[in-house]
Amino acid sequence: VVIVGAGFGGLTAARALRRAPVDVLLVDRDNYHLFTPLLYQVASALLSPGEIARPVRSLLRGFRNATFRLANVESIDVAGRRVVTDRGEVDYHYLVVAAGSATNFFGNRSLAEQALPLKELGEGLALRNWVLSQFEASRWETDPVRRRRLLTIAVVGGGPTGVELAGAFSELIRIVLRRDLPDLDLNEVRVVLLEGSDTLLAAFDSGLRQAADAALRRKRVEIWYQALVRSVDGGLVELADGRRLEATTVVWTAGVRAAEVAGMLTESPGSQGRVRVRPTLQLPAHPEVFVIGDAAAVEVRGELLPMLIPVAMQEAKHCARSIHRLLMEREPEAFQYRDPGIMATIGRNAAVAQLGPVRLAGFLGWLMWLGVHLVNVISFRSRLVVLVNWAWDYLFYDRPVRLIVEARAPGAGRSTPPPASRRRRAG
Ligand SMILES: Cc1cc2nc3c(=O)[nH]c(=O)nc-3n(C[C@H](O)[C@H](O)[C@H](O)COP(=O)(O)OP(=O)(O)OC[C@H]3O[C@@H](n4cnc5c(N)ncnc54)[C@H](O)[C@@H]3O)c2cc1C
Repeated sequence: VVIVGAGFGGLTAARALRRAPVDVLLVDRDNYHLFTPLLYQVASALLSPGEIARPVRSLLRGFRNATFRLANVESIDVAGRRVVTDRGEVDYHYLVVAAGSATNFFGNRSLAEQALPLKELGEGLALRNWVLSQFEASRWETDPVRRRRLLTIAVVGGGPTGVELAGAFSELIRIVLRRDLPDLDLNEVRVVLLEGSDTLLAAFDSGLRQAADAALRRKRVEIWYQALVRSVDGGLVELADGRRLEATTVVWTAGVRAAEVAGMLTESPGSQGRVRVRPTLQLPAHPEVFVIGDAAAVEVRGELLPMLIPVAMQEAKHCARSIHRLLMEREPEAFQYRDPGIMATIGRNAAVAQLGPVRLAGFLGWLMWLGVHLVNVISFRSRLVVLVNWAWDYLFYDRPVRLIVEARAPGAGRSTPPPASRRRRAG
């Protein structure tokens, strides 16, 4: 069994196949598994990369039938049952595609070139470097207009990532950087959340949406509704209705589409470029190929399942069961989804959670968010370090990882950041 992607879907599938009479090969272009829900905390200098990512090889230790190879998948020959990577080719009996999703700039070149996405670990680090560098640069700037531009962060997209990031940046500035930069005038600082529709967190109930709006405003985040970004150019954000915002930091969290690998399996993709699959998660013309997680367009009771971790993990377990069944010459069954609920945090003491009939906001929601995320952080060691960092931040209003650090290739010269390097795989 070849599994493409060691994210939530791929890793769960590999683990669920541990007792199956198969050899499992997991292929990923990164050598780590990333816990995406806390990526915004790397971007806002609360956590270090090592606390939210683990090497895949260490996660597979103890699995006698599973191995890992680091490679970028470049094409898939479904007829020949072969995966082609930048390092070599590998044949399969069964293929599980769990390649996730990528940032979608909807073909807008200025956004793709100038906005910072937040999907991958490198992007979280680049964003941290960039924001801290803008604040350092602002200390040299004597022109008040240019200084304000350096001190304005625009976050585009009022979904969970945008809401969490806007709250976290506001706290980073108002609680931590304020003390680092004693001459910083907080009246010159702005965190602006730009949302294209007239509501934040569209998947949540209206009461929770209002609670999120109020919590962000308490944290001094400005919220602009009906704000469709038309272009970003040299620190100027232009909206479709003519409004303008000057900001050197523009973060794009407003669009995702299936990863490029999805396009290698289908010529007529579903919404967001996801691969349409049978209710059993198999590719219609190739039952030996399963597609799961963000890359798959799976409809349950007429509704397309969202791009979420529980969806990817449940599909992965179902797919492993189906491979077991096929090995016993039985037909796979249709996938059923059990919705565990959704939540989003808005920083210190504030979160919203919608779990079945239960609705929580404010401090209670935040405690629930903390508990759920801590339990799900990938290893015991990371859990401990994350807990210590959260406690430190909560008690001492301090974030120890606000370092501007960029990887450099051997022989490359040194420059004062910015520019931040922006690794880009998205289209
Ligand atoms: C910032 C952020 C916050 C999020 N927060 C939450 C949250 O709080 N709760 C929640 O439920 N969901 C959250 N999500 C969504 C969640 O991360 C995804 O739904 C989930 O990761 C999907 O799992 P997956 O296995 O399909 O893909 P992923 O977990 O993304 O894994 C895909 C893997 O495929 C690899 N890959 C892709 N292309 C190639 C290639 N060509 N060759 C080799 N390897 C490849 C990637 O490197 C990656 O490791 C968040 C997402 C982001 C970006």
